[in-house]
Amino acid sequence: MHPFTYSRAADPAAAIAAHAQDPHLAFIAGGTDLLGLMKDGAALPDRLLDINGLPDMERIEVLRDGGVRIGPLARMSDVAADEEIRRRFPVSLLFAASGQLRNMASMGGNIMQRTRCAYFRDEDDLPCNKRKPGSGCAARHGLNRLHAIFGWSDECVATHPSDVAVALSALDAEVVVRGRSGERSISFTGFHRLPGNTPDRDNVLDRGDLIVAIEVPDRIEGRASHYLKVRDRESYEFALVSAAAAVATNGSRIGSVRLAMGGVAHKPWRLTAAESALRGISLTDVQALRTAIATSFVDARPLAQNAFKVELAQRVALRAVQIAVARA
Ligand code: SF4
Repeated sequence: MHPFTYSRAADPAAAIAAHAQDPHLAFIAGGTDLLGLMKDGAALPDRLLDINGLPDMERIEVLRDGGVRIGPLARMSDVAADEEIRRRFPVSLLFAASGQLRNMASMGGNIMQRTRCAYFRDEDDLPCNKRKPGSGCAARHGLNRLHAIFGWSDECVATHPSDVAVALSALDAEVVVRGRSGERSISFTGFHRLPGNTPDRDNVLDRGDLIVAIEVPDRIEGRASHYLKVRDRESYEFALVSAAAAVATNGSRIGSVRLAMGGVAHKPWRLTAAESALRGISLTDVQALRTAIATSFVDARPLAQNAFKVELAQRVALRAVQIAVARA
């Protein structure tokens, strides 16, 4: 294993300065993804800076406008068990990872986790532009059953593995980041990147950027929300396809809906066309719901081994909407 040093951050400003100045330094919180990447040789930091001691970074608080602010060091299990979170956003976090991992994994680390593409995590140095820019993409014409059907490039066809990020995308959450030039908020839909010709970059963060909060607005749709995850096995598995739906009803019809999918792209994938098409549709008109959801799939581009995802994803989205509607 690549040798590294370990130290603890005393305050956010010092952590930001250290990260900005040193390209070989990595923040570590729960470490549930980073340590695996280091063992696989997919991350080779010379220095680890432990941010677990930074003050007030694990708090979960209700804001005056009714939204919720989640500290990046809040453990997933604490967020999943929080009564305010459960009441306001029934999108459950209990489907993600395993119990042990949820106890350790931080919310900030979860949305920063890297793809589960087997080539990316393989120590045998197979072509992977994300792991080694310019080396090629072994998955493009290789094993790509688990890969993207939207937004991919010839340089990378990987998907983002986070369940939480999909739910937060549907809830219109924002990531609050503190960097060298102050604090800024990034919408969840703008936080993760499509691969383009720089698939080594998963998100828009720069050196010296530290996530200081995740804020979830108090949207009426959040109260009737559901996350549905389909995976190859029932326990501790990443999503083959998943959908987060948040719905507000208007009598017997859909008033508004927010819909995001996981397992289909390099980032949580919002079905914006379907969100528009679903408005006003009768809650019980299954065919109309199905047709509206299909509007977001006209530009799906399946790979050689994952054409099944196009149909599966539409069924999962429909089911997630139906379950959210039942909660409305
Ligand atoms: Fe690497 Fe992306 Fe290709 Fe997987 S899909 S081998 S992560 S470049």
